[in-house]
Amino acid sequence: MATVGITALIPPEITYGTGNTPLDINNLVPRSKVVPRDKLCAWTAVWRELALKGRIKLDRLVVVAGGDCNNALVDGERLEGAGTPTHYFTYPFDGSRARMKEEIQRLIEFLGGSCDRGLFREVGRIKRLARRIDMWRVRGEVDPEKAFAIEVAGSDLGGDLEGFRKRLEGLEREKVDYDYPVALIGTPPIYPDFHRFLSSIGLHVVYDEMPYEFIRLGGSSITGLAESYGGYTFSRHITTRLEAIERELRKRKAEAVIHNYQFACHHKLEDRILRDRLNRELGYPYISIEGDLPSRTPEQTKLRLEAFKERLGGYL
Ligand code: SF4
Repeated sequence: MATVGITALIPPEITYGTGNTPLDINNLVPRSKVVPRDKLCAWTAVWRELALKGRIKLDRLVVVAGGDCNNALVDGERLEGAGTPTHYFTYPFDGSRARMKEEIQRLIEFLGGSCDRGLFREVGRIKRLARRIDMWRVRGEVDPEKAFAIEVAGSDLGGDLEGFRKRLEGLEREKVDYDYPVALIGTPPIYPDFHRFLSSIGLHVVYDEMPYEFIRLGGSSITGLAESYGGYTFSRHITTRLEAIERELRKRKAEAVIHNYQFACHHKLEDRILRDRLNRELGYPYISIEGDLPSRTPEQTKLRLEAFKERLGGYL
């Protein structure tokens, strides 16, 4: 089985269905010690360096070139220039099912040309297990760090369907004490201890926006996948994303919002739109956090989050 690196979400149903193993190369970044020489966003610069130095072995690469990230596009071009067979996958901005279907067909061609639809159902069963755990976190029945680890791995299902399914089935419910349920929207934090730190100060993450998208989307046919992945909120207009965020905030009874974004990422510019709607119009207490290089959560960030938590007592 060939290892296919992915730079953002593409349907894992297709990677597995074509007999390949997906590897979300972003998931290697938070614990990496590599300091890239030229960078904008550290996520793409670190995986680029890891691949160029041969520390990630990729047989092929799929770059999400439209609807997500231009930094990934350029760093993907550099890996292609260094000899990795590379495909560029584009989400239609309007969510067009027909164009999404064309993109999926092109992806299948790149990954070998034939696709076992039976694997779609197996991936679907695993995602249902992950969504059950996602609901446990809302009810305070699982540590958010464990739920996050599972959901963020939903992009490649750990590279091992059977192993990932067993991991989910083996997770047990536990009683979690906390002070406030909060939502973590935006890019997943580049600090591997971020969720643990939030729990340590009584902030229980009931919603990880992007990782939840990884386990929310799916389908049992090419048409079904096209319809579902066409609704990947991060590839769409910000209003589509905001509708989904607002729905989840209500459903999960989140009481505050942490917006995490990355230095030199276009998502940083969305902070004003998100803050205006969620804080100014809807009244959610809101804090913006900016990450850069992978490390433990910086002390200054911890201090700001502690002060935010203290203020929640006055807001709520
Ligand atoms: S944080 Fe932004 S710039 Fe970095 S990989 Fe993600 S979308 Fe791209």
